[in-house]
Amino acid sequence: AIRIAQMTGWVSFTLMAIYSNVGEVEDGMRTLTPPHTLTDAPGAVTLPRSTGEVTFDHVSFAYGRRIGGVEDICLKIRPGEKIGIVGASGAGKSTLVALLLRLYDTEKGQVLVDGQDVRTVTQESLRRQIGMVTQETAMFNRSARENILYGRPDATEEEIVAAAKAAEADEFITTLIDHKGKTGYDAQLGERGVRLSGGQRQRIALARAFLKDAPILVLDEATSALDSEVEAQIQEALNRVMRGKTVLAIAHRLSTIAAMDRIIVLDRGRIVEVGSHDSLLARGGLYARYWNRQSGGFIGTEEEAAE
Ligand code: ADP
Ligand code: MG
Repeated sequence: AIRIAQMTGWVSFTLMAIYSNVGEVEDGMRTLTPPHTLTDAPGAVTLPRSTGEVTFDHVSFAYGRRIGGVEDICLKIRPGEKIGIVGASGAGKSTLVALLLRLYDTEKGQVLVDGQDVRTVTQESLRRQIGMVTQETAMFNRSARENILYGRPDATEEEIVAAAKAAEADEFITTLIDHKGKTGYDAQLGERGVRLSGGQRQRIALARAFLKDAPILVLDEATSALDSEVEAQIQEALNRVMRGKTVLAIAHRLSTIAAMDRIIVLDRGRIVEVGSHDSLLARGGLYARYWNRQSGGFIGTEEEAAE
């Protein structure tokens, strides 16, 4: 029963992380109605631990009435490759991630992990391959320890602390004290516990991802809206968590993206540019415009993209 609760929790958490407008807080666990509930295909197989190869093969998807979504996405990501995904708000960045997690099924084309169509594997085994760190990471009304343990419920105390250290979270966790006087890793987080800053929440989320040690890591705007000192700390933690993993990183802050192996630029659901930071700058297209206009800053609004 605990295992099922944890799995359900993870799925809810994943959905919450992406669709943060959905759901209610219920004793720290989130309940929600997913857009539509996809079930495992009959005879779905368990995906073994992935090498981290991810392929989008002519993938198209639209939300209802053909609005939004993505169109004819082709992208082959090598094991361990670090991909930056850039584009204005509404360009389809989070939709790509949602399709990888199989929160939706594609309309055309296939999403494959290690050459396996995600529709042919169990959702539990698919999501086990993917660690998520998002801006809106939910903290449960549980202790700091349990919030990190969520990444891998069977981890030992030593592993929890090691993950927190890797995520630059150990130091602030040890100073926590909640309203009941519980301290450190025992302090309660969440809406009814210690209020964490955005940077602290991200570091808990990173610790969770570090502990989970999934071969594929998704970062959605993981370093936006932080002061520069915290950002530098998070960047170090991120580098540690990303090591050896396939990474899909969505960020508004181009400085985070510049170091990725490859950057894809999305515009209204389509990939319009692909390349390294240098090659995209040399190309003088949309990415170069973003960079030149907002060097090291944020990509702004939809109006900007529509210019
Ligand atoms: P990004 O992450 O790049 O900001 P999204 O992938 O969230 O963009 O959204 C891409 C497009 O799909 C947008 O036009 C958005 O309004 C639309 N969209 C996203 N989620 C939904 C949804 N659940 N229902 C309907 N439209 C959606
Ligand atoms: Mg998004």
